[in-house]
Amino acid sequence: MHCPFCGEAETKVIDSRLVAEGDQVRRRRECLTCHERFTTFETAELVMPRVVKQDGTRQPFDEEKLRAGLMKALEKRPVSIEQIDAALNRIRYRLRATGEREVKSMRLGEEVMTELRQLDQVAYVRFASVYRSFQDINEFKEEIERLSQGDGEAAADVARALADQPVDKGKS
Ligand SMILES: [Zn+2]
Repeated sequence: MHCPFCGEAETKVIDSRLVAEGDQVRRRRECLTCHERFTTFETAELVMPRVVKQDGTRQPFDEEKLRAGLMKALEKRPVSIEQIDAALNRIRYRLRATGEREVKSMRLGEEVMTELRQLDQVAYVRFASVYRSFQDINEFKEEIERLSQGDGEAAADVARALADQPVDKGKS
């Protein structure tokens, strides 16, 4: 590791600690020549598969885009950032676990729906309705019926979300 100040190749590590919940090592280094200090971060390189869009073009996996999609669906829903991060971690893990170098963009959407279904039913329906554009409305009805068997209040929220009405207001 060359010194960023003078270019000297010899630097020594004066402190080393785990950060980012152990996913990263932060090292404090000192140049043996000019004695300037600097910090380096080390992370494991985890190669994500590339994403194949429906038109056949390839794109690098974009975690921020995925996060933005989740956040949008979960807008004003009682789901914490920690839960969203955990969902993103699971998606990343499952995509790497495929061992494939490329995945279809549709697969990403399915992964997001799997997570949203666990996190928040309203967000799930919001996302699914946009994502799948539900060509077959019966599929949607079945989903609502399935949800309503579990939780009446949640089903009512889902119905309001579907009707594009405020979910958290208008209960008076
Ligand atoms: Zn130096």
